[in-house]
Amino acid sequence: MREVISIHIGQAGCQIGESCWELYCLEHGLEPTGRLPEDTTGGKEESLSTFFNHTGAGQYVPRSIFIDLEPSVIDNIRSGPYRKLYHPNQLISGKEDAANNYARGNYTVGRNMQEPALKQIKKLTEQCSVLQGFLIFHSFGGGTGSGFTSLLMSELHNEYGKKDKLEFAVYPAPQVSTAVVEPYNAIHTTHSTLEHATCSFLFDNEAIYDICKNNLDIERPAYTNLNRLICQIVSSITASLRFAGQLNVDLNEFQTNLVPFPRIHYPLSSYAPIISSSKAAKSMFSAKELTLECFEKNTQMIKCNPSEGKYMACCLLYRGDLVPKDITQSIEHIKGLSSVQFVEWCPTGFKVGINSQPPVIPPQGDMAKIDRSVCMLANSTSIVSVWQRLNEKFDMMFAKRAFVHWYVGEGMEEGEFIDARDDLAALEKDYIEVTGSGDDADEGGDDANEY
Ligand code: GDP
Repeated sequence: MREVISIHIGQAGCQIGESCWELYCLEHGLEPTGRLPEDTTGGKEESLSTFFNHTGAGQYVPRSIFIDLEPSVIDNIRSGPYRKLYHPNQLISGKEDAANNYARGNYTVGRNMQEPALKQIKKLTEQCSVLQGFLIFHSFGGGTGSGFTSLLMSELHNEYGKKDKLEFAVYPAPQVSTAVVEPYNAIHTTHSTLEHATCSFLFDNEAIYDICKNNLDIERPAYTNLNRLICQIVSSITASLRFAGQLNVDLNEFQTNLVPFPRIHYPLSSYAPIISSSKAAKSMFSAKELTLECFEKNTQMIKCNPSEGKYMACCLLYRGDLVPKDITQSIEHIKGLSSVQFVEWCPTGFKVGINSQPPVIPPQGDMAKIDRSVCMLANSTSIVSVWQRLNEKFDMMFAKRAFVHWYVGEGMEEGEFIDARDDLAALEKDYIEVTGSGDDADEGGDDANEY
C-alpha cells in the first residue's frame, strides 16, 4: 500500500485531526499509545502502513503533523488521551496567533512556522516507500487555516508537485460566523490553493450542526460532535487506502471519476445512516434506503440544493456487508428520480466502491452503531450557490474597503483582493459553463473556447 501523509492546520484542522486519529486507532484496533494489544493476531500490519509508521520500538506513529500558530489547541493534544500516539516533533505550535487574518497566516506570523513545518513534512516523506499524497485539514475562515495553508500548499506544490493534495476544509457557514472577515480569508485561500489542490471536500458547520440536532438529537452540538461526524466521512473516503477490499476504489480512481476538469474539484459529501440509537431500532438499513438517504438534504455536509443543479459525477463508497447486486438496483432506482439530473455530457456518472470493513462508532459517540454505511461524494453544479453566497458577502465588505487595512498592514496589497475575487468570479462562470450541454460544455475560463 502506498503511504499518505495528513497535515492538520489551525484550530479546526487540528481538532478534526484529533477526532480522525482517534477513529483510525479504533478502526485498526490500536491503543491510544499507538500499540497493538498483545493478543492481536497477525495480518494487521499491511493495513496500518498507509497511515502509520511502524517504529523499531513497536509503536505505530501517525504519518501526520499538527500545526498551529498559537499554542492552546496543540497543548490540548499534548495533554490529551492520545498524547502518546504522537512524536513530540509532529506537534508544532507557535506563540502568536493569526488573529483571523489571512495575511498574518500567510505573510508575517506564518512565515516563521514555514521552515519547521516543511522540515517535519520532509522527515515524514522520507519514512515512506512510495508516497501517494497529502490530506490537508483546515478551515477556510480562520487566519491560520486560510493563510498558513495557502503558504504550505504552494510549498508542497513546489516540492512534491505530482503528489495528490486532497483538502478537507471547514467552509464559512451561511448564517453564523465566528469572524466577520471569514469571507475575505475564504476567498484568498480558495484563490491561492485552487491550482494546487486536486480535490477539496467542504464542510459547513451549520449543515453539520443541524444534522447533529435533528438526526442525532443533540440539543447543543459542540465542535467535538461536529468533528466526530466529519471524521466518519474522512474515514469512509480513506477506508480503501487502509483496508484491503474486493471493490476498493483507491484515491486515484475516485478522483479520476469525480473531477472532470481541474478547477471543478469541490464535491458535495453526504453520509448515511446518521441516526441516534433511539431512532435506529425503527429504521431499515438496506442498500436502497441508505443510498436514497444520501440524496436527502439532512445527510449533506454543506448547505446547498442539488436539485437546483446537475450532477457531473457521483461516487458511492459503501462499507459493511453490502452486495453489488443490491447496490446496482439502488442506483437504477436513483437514476429514475426526476430530482437527480446529470449533465448531458456525462449521463451515467456513478462510481461504486465497497469495503467490507464495517464503520466503527467511538464508544462515547452520538451515532447508533450500524454495521453498514455509505458515503456519497457528488460533483454537482449546485455548489455554485455556495460560491455565490460567499462572493456576495465579500463584495459587501470590499465595496467599502472595510477591514482591508488589517491585511494591508500585514504586507498584502489591495490588488490581491481584486485578483482573488476575479478568480472566484471565473470559478462561478466555470460552473455555469459546465452545466451547459454538448459543445459548450467546457471547463470555462476566458479563453476556454479559443482552441
Ligand atoms: P485558525 O486556527 O486561525 O485557522 O482558525 P479556526 O480554525 O478556528 O477557523 C475558524 C473557523 O473554523 C470557523 O468557521 C469555526 O467555526 C471553525 N472551527 C474552529 N474549530 C473547529 C472545530 O473543531 N471543528 C469544526 N468543524 N469547525 C471549527
